[in-house]
Amino acid sequence: MWQIALDRSAFYPTSGGQPHDTGLLTATSSGGALLEAPILAVEEDEQGEVWHTTPKPLSAGTAVRGYVDWSRRRDHMQQHSGQHLLSAIVYRQLGAATISFHLGEMTSTIDLAREVISQEELERVEDAVNEIIAEDRAVTMRTIPRSEAEMLLAAGTLHKLPDREGDIRLIEIDEIDLNACGGTHVEATGQIGGLLIRGTERMRQGLRVEFVCGVRAVATARQDLAALTRTAAALSVGRLDVADAVDRLLAEGKAAHKTRQKLTEELAGYHAASLLLQHPLQGDRRVVRIAFTDPGAGYIDAGYLKLLASRLIASAPQTCALLASTLEEPARVVVAASADLKIDCGSLLREALAAYGLRGGGSPTMAQGQIPRVHLEALFSGLEGRFLNA
Ligand SMILES: [Zn+2]
Repeated sequence: MWQIALDRSAFYPTSGGQPHDTGLLTATSSGGALLEAPILAVEEDEQGEVWHTTPKPLSAGTAVRGYVDWSRRRDHMQQHSGQHLLSAIVYRQLGAATISFHLGEMTSTIDLAREVISQEELERVEDAVNEIIAEDRAVTMRTIPRSEAEMLLAAGTLHKLPDREGDIRLIEIDEIDLNACGGTHVEATGQIGGLLIRGTERMRQGLRVEFVCGVRAVATARQDLAALTRTAAALSVGRLDVADAVDRLLAEGKAAHKTRQKLTEELAGYHAASLLLQHPLQGDRRVVRIAFTDPGAGYIDAGYLKLLASRLIASAPQTCALLASTLEEPARVVVAASADLKIDCGSLLREALAAYGLRGGGSPTMAQGQIPRVHLEALFSGLEGRFLNA
């Protein structure tokens, strides 16, 4: 990258919350060929020199013609002039001063010295701003000596002055706002095109208000509309009924979740009863040992295994349960024993898993862990032996 300084330039360097222009420098070589150097960034150094960043070098002394990317400049003019107007109306209607301004890639923001603004207040501000845009009031620029600007500041006509020395550039929106500003602005409020407030966000000090103006407001509204239209189509409702439809879906989802929970608990009860029938007592105890492998039984997760184990040991004495689900790798394992057996499942499983370098454990009546599927049968056989001989 090269940085080029010119004897004069119409390119705006990044400052005052407004990003730089982009564009093109062209020159004719001594051989008559056209040289083109795209301008990717523009910045001003502390000495006031403006540097144009370009991937192509130009030799010193070359006469160049500059072309500013107009759609980007116009967009910045619309957002920046819209900000003057928005700040002026917020101050006038709500008494809240603007602390800072940021012109972003997608939206712009101002930070206000006020904690809360109601939706109704925001809409009144938005209406007033758009009224003044429709009135197409003149936006004028003039330069005055600093001493004169300081008098305006003392009189309260100006709110603040930049720190830099030298003459002061004033931007005035007819009968609405007077500001010292070095940014780029429209010539009449109508060119702002319209202003849309997009939301607020609480900041450590005050409130951030997000807004878009002009062509950017149209682009943003287009994006919002596309998202809303897609959602409405998916829900088979009109665009304005989307919020109600989502509320309904959420309520249905919540009710369905409750029902499912209840059904799962009931299922575990029946499931346990059926397993106890299939595993009769052998001698003085019974071991229910099952690894669930059916991918169709997706409801058999670690939570269901625990539920099932608790039903098994609650409804039958002298019962041990070795349950696993191999639908995931590693397999989920639950080990349980009815209280009358006085077996400490927690320590049993912890020791058994430790032999594989794995961790797990739980209470005396129920413990859980995970183990690679390949070791599951060996783990269960070991535990079954311990259960039968405990
Ligand atoms: Zn300005």
